Amino acid sequence: MDVKEGDVLNYDIVVVGGGPAGSTAARFAAKEGADVLVLEKRQEIGSPVRCAEGVSLSWLEELEIDNIDSSTSRTMKGAILYSPAGNKLKITERLAGDEVGVVLERDRFDKDMARLAVKEGADFMVKTSAVGLIKEDGVVKGVEARYLGKKFEVRADLVIGADGFESQVGRWAGIYDSLKPKDIMTCFQYRLTGVNMDPDFTHFYMGSSAPGGYVWAFPKDENTANVGLGLQFSRLKGEKTPKDYLDEFIENHDDYKDGEAVDMVAGAVAVTHPPEKAIAPGIILVGDASRVVDSMTGGGIVNSLKQGKIAGEFAAEAVREGKFDEEFLQKYEKRWRDELENKLWRNYMAKETAMQLDDITFDKIIDALSNIELETVTIGAILEGVKKKYPELVEEFQNMI
Ligand SMILES: Cc1cc2nc3c(=O)[nH]c(=O)nc-3n(C[C@H](O)[C@H](O)[C@H](O)COP(=O)(O)OP(=O)(O)OC[C@H]3O[C@@H](n4cnc5c(N)ncnc54)[C@H](O)[C@@H]3O)c2cc1C
Repeated sequence: MDVKEGDVLNYDIVVVGGGPAGSTAARFAAKEGADVLVLEKRQEIGSPVRCAEGVSLSWLEELEIDNIDSSTSRTMKGAILYSPAGNKLKITERLAGDEVGVVLERDRFDKDMARLAVKEGADFMVKTSAVGLIKEDGVVKGVEARYLGKKFEVRADLVIGADGFESQVGRWAGIYDSLKPKDIMTCFQYRLTGVNMDPDFTHFYMGSSAPGGYVWAFPKDENTANVGLGLQFSRLKGEKTPKDYLDEFIENHDDYKDGEAVDMVAGAVAVTHPPEKAIAPGIILVGDASRVVDSMTGGGIVNSLKQGKIAGEFAAEAVREGKFDEEFLQKYEKRWRDELENKLWRNYMAKETAMQLDDITFDKIIDALSNIELETVTIGAILEGVKKKYPELVEEFQNMI
């Protein structure tokens, strides 16, 4: 689509952001008959990749997707957790069930999600930034946008803010405050080739290698992995950067130290509690923009997709009813919270405690778990397992068992 300076485009819904949340919201809104335009500020959907690319497959059926083979680089058999002293816990497919997943080709995955939306009739514009809201008598009526230096308007009754971690739509609408430094996970990652870990498992390293977070290694092929870390922003002290922490980790691990970096990524995720609000009159937020990343793992793709579907179906309903006021938008709040909020809160609370654990405690936890037969991998089952050997460690988590 081409536009000229001053053009006015008319749609039912404008989606700001063409990531998994935005494309999925657009897909389901278009499927239900709404006229939808997605604006993506980058020149290519999904690129450059800022992700470790790990995802479970538990959501496919819900999202009405048969498989994601075309955007998968490797299927995992399970995960291995390592304590600072090197104690290991192997979580196999049998234990993890639906939560075992794949390592994606994230750029292809995001394009696939966009393709599904286009198939349902959604329009997309890349290299197009939303730069502000259009308001009439205090009511949102779309967004101002810029494409190749040309300013134009997209008039729509509903704006879906799917613009990620740094969401401007959320700020323009006055929906939320700044994040606390303790709730920001700052990340750094290399794609290392020439590495030597087990390529059928994702690998997680706990403890002070990544204070308040963890190091991950997600295999892309037999000898290549995304090796990165996320650490609590408030723990960054002095001159030591996330890159310094990762370099130190790699240097001290034989599986990785001979690897060569072919790619480098820096980014951040919000590991915070669910927002008080994800709506304002004429606006709904979805995905990272509404802070639905799982606080324990830092993973946000699955929740973005699930919430995207709810947002899209709701948006089409709002268009059919012609209602965009806050009272009507409460239905969206209720629907996504019913599906996601309990687990988000539970994992946020667990993260708040887990971030305080020292290396010796991580050693004990992994030691306790590696010596028993876990039936499933839930926070409750893990705590029960630890309680058997180190009851004093689970006192703070009693209410989660
Ligand atoms: C280093 C790192 C590793 C991660 N690893 C994992 C992982 O392994 N597994 C997992 O599940 N999650 C992971 N995440 C989190 C995951 O990437 C996000 O949760 C997910 O991308 C959220 O999708 P989204 O559609 O909400 O936002 P995004 O994917 O961020 O998409 C938002 C889009 O909006 C666009 N945009 C922003 N502003 C505007 C504007 N004004 N106008 C137009 N477009 C705009 C952006 O360009 C972007 O394309 C990781 C994050 C980071 C930083």
